[in-house]
Amino acid sequence: MDPIRMVDLKSQYNQIADEVQSALNDVIESTAFINGPAVKQFQANLEQYLGVKHVIPCANGTDALQIALMGLKLEPGDEVITADFTFAATVEVISLLRLTPVLIDVDPKTFNIDPKAIEAAITPKTKAIIPVHLFGQTADMEAINAIAEKHNLYVVEDNAQGIGATYTFKDGSKAKTGTLGHVAATSFFPSKNLGAYGDGGAIFTNDDDLAHFIRGIVNHGMYKRYYHDVVGVNSRLDAMQAAILNVKLKYLDYYNERRKEAAIRYTQLLGEHPNIVTPYREADCSSHVFHQYTLRIIDRDRDALVDFLNENGIPCGVYYPVPLHRQKAYAQPNTDESLFPVTNQLVEEVISLPMHSELTIEQIEFIAEKVLAFLS
Ligand SMILES: *Cc1c(COP(=O)(O)O)cnc(C)c1O
Repeated sequence: MDPIRMVDLKSQYNQIADEVQSALNDVIESTAFINGPAVKQFQANLEQYLGVKHVIPCANGTDALQIALMGLKLEPGDEVITADFTFAATVEVISLLRLTPVLIDVDPKTFNIDPKAIEAAITPKTKAIIPVHLFGQTADMEAINAIAEKHNLYVVEDNAQGIGATYTFKDGSKAKTGTLGHVAATSFFPSKNLGAYGDGGAIFTNDDDLAHFIRGIVNHGMYKRYYHDVVGVNSRLDAMQAAILNVKLKYLDYYNERRKEAAIRYTQLLGEHPNIVTPYREADCSSHVFHQYTLRIIDRDRDALVDFLNENGIPCGVYYPVPLHRQKAYAQPNTDESLFPVTNQLVEEVISLPMHSELTIEQIEFIAEKVLAFLS
């Protein structure tokens, strides 16, 4: 059995090496290193894949979130509601823009922002909600959009972990995550489901005016060369990364399918154990692209399980060990801990097992066997 990795970019690369090399060669030969044809092509291909009118490539997922928020022209002190249980980038950009992050608890089943908690957190200053499709599971967008409409709020999807997932509305219609709010941000960090070989990100929107505004923001606030209408940033997707992403986008559905197969096998092996809660998923799995396969370990020592797996050559991750409301950078004095019962419990219980498109059945069975051996 090959060594087990949390993500296996090398084996994945080996299968597409010729295509990637030739795409990189084309960029080098063309010398179109900045915003050249490779970037334009990737933008168009991703627009088509997602069914969204505008994809605006940028340098990384954190920039994508920041620029999406800049596009909404919020005022300092405006409140932005987001999940307490997510990667820090989501809240970091809110604070950087001098907006006020309002962290709320998540749903214990999906780990995603809890619509009931959103309603309770809305004040006259609330201007936007950032749902995160955490670990690849779609947030409850229909409920979130309904609340946003009622209170006249923007919805900014953090789709860094959810690219390729399909959301199904109550009426049966479907759409890809990242196309469901006013604007969305994603990341092409190498370990993401659509990962580059370096940093990358993108913003998505169906709003023509917002897309135009954002295309200027990413380019120093220029709409006409050397005329700077707004304070912008310099955030570009590198042409080499775009060329690689163009190759990998063709395989995204295949990669996500492989992740789902691995998740289904894990759940078959682990789902019956009384101390394990396997990830929630809908019957056809369409709502989940398993960026992570994250278990809850109930009434047992999660940290000891991490050590045990590591000793057995199995890498694993704890995403995330500290809720954002308790991070030094974001903690507020006199926080009412009773507002965060779910997050406070999840940080003690979660463990993410190796998950990528190259996992073999043999590896999955070995990992599951060790998890069960520890808990037996
Ligand atoms: C990875 C990630 C980001 C940030 O992406 P970078 O490209 O690393 O800047 C933001 N939000 C979430 C939920 C992420 O997982």
